[in-house]
Amino acid sequence: MATPFRQSLRRVRSSSTSESTISPSTHKHITIASLAKSPAPSTTLKTIPYWQHIWRNVDQSEFLTYRWQTRNTVDRPEKLLDFLKTVVPERIPDAVKSAKEDGRLITREAFLEDVYNGMAKAPMSVRLTPHVLSVINWQEPLQDPVLRQFLPLKSRILPDHPELTLDSLHEEGDSPIPGLVHRYPDKVLFLATSVCPVYCRFCTRSYAVGADTESVTKHSLKPARRRWDAMFEYIEQNPAIQDVVVSGGDSYYLDPTHLTRIGHRLLGIPHIKRFRFATKGLAVCPMRMTDPNDAWVNAFVEVSDRGREMGKEVAMHTHFNHPNEITWATEMAARTLFQRGVRVRNQTVLLRGVNDTIPMMAELIRKLSDLMIQPYYVYLGDMVKGVEDLRTSLATALHIEQNLIGGIAGFNMPKFVVDLPGGGGKRPITSFETYDTKAGVSTWTAPAVAGDKVFQYHDPVKRD
Ligand code: SF4
Repeated sequence: MATPFRQSLRRVRSSSTSESTISPSTHKHITIASLAKSPAPSTTLKTIPYWQHIWRNVDQSEFLTYRWQTRNTVDRPEKLLDFLKTVVPERIPDAVKSAKEDGRLITREAFLEDVYNGMAKAPMSVRLTPHVLSVINWQEPLQDPVLRQFLPLKSRILPDHPELTLDSLHEEGDSPIPGLVHRYPDKVLFLATSVCPVYCRFCTRSYAVGADTESVTKHSLKPARRRWDAMFEYIEQNPAIQDVVVSGGDSYYLDPTHLTRIGHRLLGIPHIKRFRFATKGLAVCPMRMTDPNDAWVNAFVEVSDRGREMGKEVAMHTHFNHPNEITWATEMAARTLFQRGVRVRNQTVLLRGVNDTIPMMAELIRKLSDLMIQPYYVYLGDMVKGVEDLRTSLATALHIEQNLIGGIAGFNMPKFVVDLPGGGGKRPITSFETYDTKAGVSTWTAPAVAGDKVFQYHDPVKRD
């Protein structure tokens, strides 16, 4: 009897695909890391079409449009399997080691089955932009640090630590209005939407973001005017609030008119002194920042300029996790924002097998600094369900931070923090009260947020 995976694969095989535009998977992969070593990236890298090992007939003018990116975004399981069939070679190196090291190979069908079964267990649905798909090394997908962030593989998923939950930061409990988290005395989190340009496996907001999955029904937050109005009214009535994070979901998925509406309304509240739009867009679809036919960046800059005139800061907070995510298209986008006066900060999540080494984190920080993106935070992975294999221990974070300090200019050195499970807010990783490394349990307090309440962070069961 055919398994659900095999039935699905048959559908994939018989479905009409856009294969005419997708090149054979045997095409040599261009490594972005090697491109980034170029001494003059803005002039030399611009000529390298880093997507054409997949979409060989798509030229630069097309690839750099936001419209093409959204049209070719892979956003359904069937579409993903369809895509993988065209880019993954018939045999790929297995596990962590490369084929050169141990010579073990697995078949493409086994890999697809692993993805299919992983999606059935994952709390997050799948959505990947062409930019992200282009920087993944499909010749060795099981070793790729970008793929690891987005594609769940059944063979890699570890049983959850018993303390993992879907809403580990207790956001719903700290929301006086649905979608408005009020934890810190002077700051609120304004969840404008629950849609993103990509879906990360380790998302803090697994309870709300993205489409329902087989294992999770989301408490979705639609970009609805009535819901936003109730959130604005709450902010207006609470003069202690000076600072707003507009997130979701992702501000990239807000219509430009929505961006303007939210920005102007917040600027018009006298006690709001600063706010930022959180978006992973710069990392996963930088084209929207440079596309002259798309109004998003102009809307953002207009709000930022207006804020500056009023003496209020409007910033962008983005989310890069690995140097391979950065291409010349990213550089163009970051430069556009810098030249137009937008302050950009980055928040990285420390992820096992992605960026949990000193050299990798140092390279990421340096590249972001070169893009005039301030490396702001590195988060210890949140204790959310389904991502035990991606979490690192507190000890790993302490070790990396300890070894980076001094080697990076102080103003570019990100703060390593843990966002306390249960809603204590962000704390520097060095500020734990106790840390039993054997048991993998640390205790914390957050006096300004939660009095003398004690919070616990649990390392993953399988530690480094
Ligand atoms: S972009 Fe941000 S909000 Fe969206 S899935 Fe990733 S981590 Fe979650």
